[in-house]
Amino acid sequence: MANGKVKEALDAILECFESGRIPEAVAYSVFPVPDLPSSKWSFLNRINIFIAGTADARGFRQWKEVGRHVKKGSKAIYILVPRIIKRENLNEKGEKEEGVTLAGFMARPVFRMEDTEGEPLDYQQIQLPPLPLIEKAKKWGICVKAIPGDHRYYGYFCQSKQEIGLATKEESVFFHELAHASHQRLAVEFEKLPSWEKEVVAELSAAALCRIVGKSTEHLGNSYRYIRHYAAEAKSSPVSACLQVLSQVEEVLNLILADAKLPLDEVLDLLPATEIACLNQAAPGGARDQWQRSRCPHDHLHGIPSMILVRQS
Ligand SMILES: [Zn+2]
Repeated sequence: MANGKVKEALDAILECFESGRIPEAVAYSVFPVPDLPSSKWSFLNRINIFIAGTADARGFRQWKEVGRHVKKGSKAIYILVPRIIKRENLNEKGEKEEGVTLAGFMARPVFRMEDTEGEPLDYQQIQLPPLPLIEKAKKWGICVKAIPGDHRYYGYFCQSKQEIGLATKEESVFFHELAHASHQRLAVEFEKLPSWEKEVVAELSAAALCRIVGKSTEHLGNSYRYIRHYAAEAKSSPVSACLQVLSQVEEVLNLILADAKLPLDEVLDLLPATEIACLNQAAPGGARDQWQRSRCPHDHLHGIPSMILVRQS
């Protein structure tokens, strides 16, 4: 993949950041949030199971109800549950009334979804959409799977398991995790890099990939806020944090895009020599110099900026 395309996409993003022309917050379209028992738990209990490495923990009986059982030898995680007791109280009029009182807390054992087996869970049957560049993940031996969404995180890349978990169909999240995977392959001591650096590299790469191969760039606002958050950790502005890691981002992108078959290439292969193609896609770039880019005359029809490619012969 031409380096020019990478540079072009990065410049455009930085320009947006610099000029403040970033769209307002756009919510990611998450998978329907599964109604997990743990969704209703206290913050502390949810933190507790998160540290234990799961998004779904339930009691022994709760697992049985959904046709699963806890694997032998699995260790329980203890959550704190309120102990409510019924008690007869006297009301203002001196009449006896049944009420409830919080008598304290007790520890209840729950088990991680990962430590159970049996019937598949609803969210395990969620299908991921065909994501661009997913072949790249496969080529690197990375397993890409759907995970339950909980509005706290949208995806992860687990280095030790070589696994990408996605709680959203949003391609920008997949690109973010794929960028971590690429970065890990390039950096000498990936684990030792500060988290702000890893996150800015991943998010800037993802924003660039959305421009190069993605269908939309509407999440640039989210990227900006994400980068600003991590840049603050390095006591840096978003733009200067991006500039600091720009060369790493280019390497990350070039590794991902090396010999990648982009949707655009497939379209171009099919076109007769004199054909004009209207592509409702972000910057197709100058991968093939025989094509000249210009604005699509159908702009007013589609309502979104598009490009036409005219083969010069
Ligand atoms: Zn990340």
